[in-house]
Amino acid sequence: MSLVLAAKRVVDADGERPDAWVRVEGDAIVEIGTGTPPGEAIRADTLMPGFVDLHCHGGGGASFTSADADEIAAAAATHRAHGTTTMHASLVSAEYDDLVRQVRALIPFVDDGTLRGIHLEGPWISRAHCGAHDPAALRLPDPDEVARILDVGEGRIRMVTLAPELPGALDSIRIIVDRGALAAIGHTAADGDTARAAVDAGATVATHLFNAMPPLLHRDAGPVGVLLADPRVTCEVIGDGVHLEPDVVALALSASEGRGALVTDAMSAAGAGDGDYRIGSLDVVVRDGVARLRDGGSLAGSTLLMDSALRRAVRLADRTLAQASRAASLAPAIAMGQSDRGRLTVGQRADVVALDADLRVMRVLRGGQWA
Ligand SMILES: [Zn+2]
Repeated sequence: MSLVLAAKRVVDADGERPDAWVRVEGDAIVEIGTGTPPGEAIRADTLMPGFVDLHCHGGGGASFTSADADEIAAAAATHRAHGTTTMHASLVSAEYDDLVRQVRALIPFVDDGTLRGIHLEGPWISRAHCGAHDPAALRLPDPDEVARILDVGEGRIRMVTLAPELPGALDSIRIIVDRGALAAIGHTAADGDTARAAVDAGATVATHLFNAMPPLLHRDAGPVGVLLADPRVTCEVIGDGVHLEPDVVALALSASEGRGALVTDAMSAAGAGDGDYRIGSLDVVVRDGVARLRDGGSLAGSTLLMDSALRRAVRLADRTLAQASRAASLAPAIAMGQSDRGRLTVGQRADVVALDADLRVMRVLRGGQWA
């Protein structure tokens, strides 16, 4: 059974093809062409590869920390409806037993392909840059504890964010990378040299670059400058216009071209509207789409969805659609080691987002199935 999608333009990181079509068989793209499509086609304005989100805590009113199967499925479905076809489920800092319970609840969703993997954001992070993480749950990166939690995940924990300046962090990074997960630098007070040492130890991701770390100064590059300049590092960028202003999104994505990755860092309110929510054990108030801790007002994740991150990158941060596709799909897929997705080429998994002329999602094809 073959499925044909046709559009005014087919766009991926390699560029735009006008008046083109994509033919899918089973779960794979088997043919791409221009002009008259072969047989009956589903029409859209624009076709792009499915979005890949390295960093996401929830959506649709549901959170990945809940350890409730219906909530986990609902959060993933909310992002899928907005074009995300590959995602990490991110867990904020928590006590050991809580983390173990949350990881175990997510494992079946990694095994059935709903999630690409689990992302532990903390608890081994800086107290001074903990953002919306519960300070009571933070601790030093004891390599034995890191290894124990990775064992609980049985290979499904695919990314761990920690602060490299903490004692035990560099040994922990080596353990994380040895087990096949990505080590990410974030929620950190590190200086530039410490950030570079972390990359030398194997870290390859900057967790929401600029946010929750010391700033870039012209005589002191700090972690931001070092991570932005190092070709080994994928830089996460929260493109919601709140965490970073649009000029900084443009700067970060152009300076890290090819390895800048749009992420949502979404919490449960994404796709669910304003109101009262929680992130981990902390109360969050969402007003006008901005999520802040009730106590202290720190930003508490975003309410971003990947299609809106894409529109903002194009309209406000001066990205071409191809550049935005690189940041929304290809760069994060490469960071995850997923060479079967992120592009619209023959042989790739059939992850296709059909968009209208305003870049709003019309339909989402994931592994050849309509989401
Ligand atoms: Zn986060």
